[in-house]
Amino acid sequence: MSSNHRINGARLWQSIMEMARIDALPGGGCGRLTLSDGDLEARKLFTRWCEDAGCTVTYDRLGNMFARREGRDPDALPIAIGSHLDTQPNGGKFDGVYGVLAGLEVVRTLNDLRLETDAPIEIVNWTNEEGARFAPAMLCSGVYAGLFDLEFALSREDAEGLSFGDELERIGYAGSEPCGAHQFGAFLEGHIEQGPVLEANEEVIGVVTGGQGQRWYDVTVTGRDAHSGSTPMQGRSDALVAAARLVQEVQRIALAYGPDGVGTVGEVHVSPNSRNTIPGEVRFTIDVRHPDDAVLGGMDNAIRRAAAEEQEAKVVLDMIWHNPPVKFDGNCVGAIEAAAKNSGLPWRRMVSGAGHDACQVARKVPAAMVIVPCRDGLSHNEAEWAEPDHLEAGCNVLLQAALTLSRQMVLAS
Ligand SMILES: [Zn+2]
Repeated sequence: MSSNHRINGARLWQSIMEMARIDALPGGGCGRLTLSDGDLEARKLFTRWCEDAGCTVTYDRLGNMFARREGRDPDALPIAIGSHLDTQPNGGKFDGVYGVLAGLEVVRTLNDLRLETDAPIEIVNWTNEEGARFAPAMLCSGVYAGLFDLEFALSREDAEGLSFGDELERIGYAGSEPCGAHQFGAFLEGHIEQGPVLEANEEVIGVVTGGQGQRWYDVTVTGRDAHSGSTPMQGRSDALVAAARLVQEVQRIALAYGPDGVGTVGEVHVSPNSRNTIPGEVRFTIDVRHPDDAVLGGMDNAIRRAAAEEQEAKVVLDMIWHNPPVKFDGNCVGAIEAAAKNSGLPWRRMVSGAGHDACQVARKVPAAMVIVPCRDGLSHNEAEWAEPDHLEAGCNVLLQAALTLSRQMVLAS
């Protein structure tokens, strides 16, 4: 076994800090939206680092990036390690970036140790994991796995009406390889937890066995614009009042399906958004999740009932995404679990609360994840923070698991 091989934690930390300078925000976070100029700069830096580490970098039709370190066996499918380099508008330094740069650190370590693997190792940067600029999230790993089609992805629009396809062309990352054609033997993702469980239990490694299901909705509530002073309270059709009732319903439903059910209204647009006009239209989003798909279906029914019962305004509910729960591959989970045990650090098995690229990829390729704690469970926030020791420990688990899965060989020097 390769149990004494270790990554360079200081180098990993330094790379994360350097990447965080691109689209850095005053509060210590990053606002690096998909297919922005900052995304382009991040891709260039990533490419330079990978090429310096001897990798060949390619990208597919949706700009998903693959940096390949060759193995001894030309027929072996690559063992891939990766995540995403895009962030939320007020995101942190670690969400996604850690997983990509942990893959890079594994490759750099293999180079330092002069270790050759049977299977090639690839580092992956999935385009548009966050879904903040172009909904839905995990869009391009989703196309890769066959959950969405290519045209759907290319036609996504941001708030300004710019399309994903045009913006991808603009930054020069519309490759020729069809999305989904790239082959992997396995895909491993490292990530911060984005929740409080590991920290609360003083554990360092989360061995992720799968991801929970989620449903996303776009809701349009249509009432009637009217003067706020001369329109009596009776007979109004106030879209915001109706929307507010539905927001409370989402919370009530999530609590009723607890403790595993969660529900959130995170985005609201009020029209005309004027102090002295009764709101005639409100558009908002709903995000509900549960590890059991049947229970998630029950939450969906309850939300539809609440929307149908609203009297004051017309409610149109459009479910834009249903992502069923996913179970990770036993062999990949086993490799990560063995590495976690081997680390001597406290660890646990868990289902991921957040969606991740690995949850999409797992529908097509054997996949698994390792997660590490983040301070106060906080993520999608500029104050997001992970301890260098924890990031290093998670990366060592990735190294061990990748070596196990790629059947490492020592290079004769
Ligand atoms: Zn992420």
